Amino acid sequence: MTEKIPLLLVEDERHIAQGLIFNLEEEGYQVTHVDNGEEALSLLSQRAFALVILDLMLPGIDGLEVCEQLRDQANQIPILMLTARGTEQDRITGLSIGADDYLTKPFNLKEFLLRVAGLLRRSNWQQKGLQPRLYNFGTNCVDLDTHQATTANGAISLTELEMKMLLLFFERENKVLSRGEILKQVWGMSPNTETRTLDNFVVRLRKYFESNPAKPEYFRTVRGRGYRFIRNPD
Ligand code: CA
Repeated sequence: MTEKIPLLLVEDERHIAQGLIFNLEEEGYQVTHVDNGEEALSLLSQRAFALVILDLMLPGIDGLEVCEQLRDQANQIPILMLTARGTEQDRITGLSIGADDYLTKPFNLKEFLLRVAGLLRRSNWQQKGLQPRLYNFGTNCVDLDTHQATTANGAISLTELEMKMLLLFFERENKVLSRGEILKQVWGMSPNTETRTLDNFVVRLRKYFESNPAKPEYFRTVRGRGYRFIRNPD
């Protein structure tokens, strides 16, 4: 878990950029720096960054335009906008076209670093990149991102469909799921389809996660209705 968080800095004033890079790297971030909007957009379409620190006044297309284009492409990366202009109107414009936060130059470095950390904390990056999303039940643990699980019966790798079905059970813990609903949600099939596939999947899940698959505690059959996942059986 020592992978560094990648940030993109878009700033054309060299001495400002150098200062920011120095301080961000001191904080342990991995910083990529470009000095114009075109390069920023091209990099952002190729690589994953956790956050963009975006100067408003740039040669060529400006920060507002970069921001607008990203949001038009449905890119939800957090954006911290930097600008020398500090009027209320600029602030509102920046935020209304999709910047997540805003700092007016000259700013306090400490405040800058706090804003960066705050945006990262609020974004998905940390959930996706740093803190694994784990779901525990009994002695089982499922990593919702990597689809790896440690189970009563050892470590396994879950398939796409197994994962889909598990997520449905997890979302509806303790509630009865009808066969029709599972077929529709997991396989996209009409609820009236007759298929043994579904039952075979449940058998497989029990083999993975139940200490006694013949007497399931977690993945229970509800006669005549469907299945029910119990997260904490007694
Ligand atoms: Ca500038």
